[in-house]
Amino acid sequence: MRTEVNDKRSNEAAIDRELCMYIMRRGPIRLSGRSAYLPGFDRISGWHARRRKRLGKKVLPRISSSVVGPLQTNCYILSCPYTAEAIIVDPGADAEVIAALVDQANLKPVMIVATHGHSDHIGGVAALQRRYGIDFALHESDIDIVKRSIKEAPLWGLGTIEEPDITKTFKDGDEISFGRVTGKILHTPGHTIGGISILFEKFVIVGDTLFRRSVGRTDLYSGNMDDLTKSIKDILFKLPDETEVFCGHGQPTTIGEEKRDNPFVYLY
Ligand SMILES: [Zn+2]
Ligand SMILES: [Zn+2]
Repeated sequence: MRTEVNDKRSNEAAIDRELCMYIMRRGPIRLSGRSAYLPGFDRISGWHARRRKRLGKKVLPRISSSVVGPLQTNCYILSCPYTAEAIIVDPGADAEVIAALVDQANLKPVMIVATHGHSDHIGGVAALQRRYGIDFALHESDIDIVKRSIKEAPLWGLGTIEEPDITKTFKDGDEISFGRVTGKILHTPGHTIGGISILFEKFVIVGDTLFRRSVGRTDLYSGNMDDLTKSIKDILFKLPDETEVFCGHGQPTTIGEEKRDNPFVYLY
C-alpha cells in the first residue's frame, strides 16, 4: 500500500517535471495577433489533461461558494480549470449575487443542479435559467418535491418562488460533465426521497444529507430516517476518510471527521 502511494507521488513529481521541461522546450509563449488567448496555453493544458487521464486521474473542478437566502444555503459554483465551463449547485436565492460571481470569474455556466427539491435550494434557479439559457437538473424522484416546496415556500418565510423548468433528471450512478471535469451522481435519499450527492475524486457535495456534526432532518415530506442513515453509513462513509464534504448549510468537513465525531449517525 505504502509503495503504491509512494509510486503515485513520484509519478506525479515526474509529470510536473516533464510539464516544466515541455514548457521550457517550447520557449516563450507568443501572443497571437488575432486573439487574446495565449496560443500555447490550451495545447499545454490539453496535453497535461491527457497525461492525467492516461494515469487514471480526473481533472478536479475549482470550487467557490456563496451563502444565499434566509436559510443560509451554501450555493456552490464548480468550474473546469481548463475551459471555464461551470455548473451552479443549489442556487437557493440571490440569483443576482450568484450571477455576479459567475460573470466576474468569466465562467461559462452549462447547467444548474439541485441536490434536492427544497425551496431553499432552488429559489434562484428560474432567474439563472433565464439569464444563461441552461438546463436545470435534479434527481427524478424529487420533481414533485419541487412543486410542493414552491407552494410551501411562503410558510417558510421564503416568499414567492418562481417555478424552474426541470429539463434534465438524474438517477444513481449518472455522470455529470463540464469542460474536462466529470463527477458522479450518488443517490443519497433520506432528507428527501430524491436527494443526491455529487462526487469528484477528492470531495463530495452532499446537500442536506450530512452536516458537520449533524444530519439532515427527516420530518419533512418524503423524509425517512432509515434511508438517511443508510445513505450516510453505506454510501458517504464508504468514501476515503480524507474526502472533503461540502454541505448544504454550514461549514465543510471531512468523511473521517464525521465518522469519528458526528453524534447523530450512531443513534439509529
Ligand atoms: Zn432540504
Ligand atoms: Zn437546505
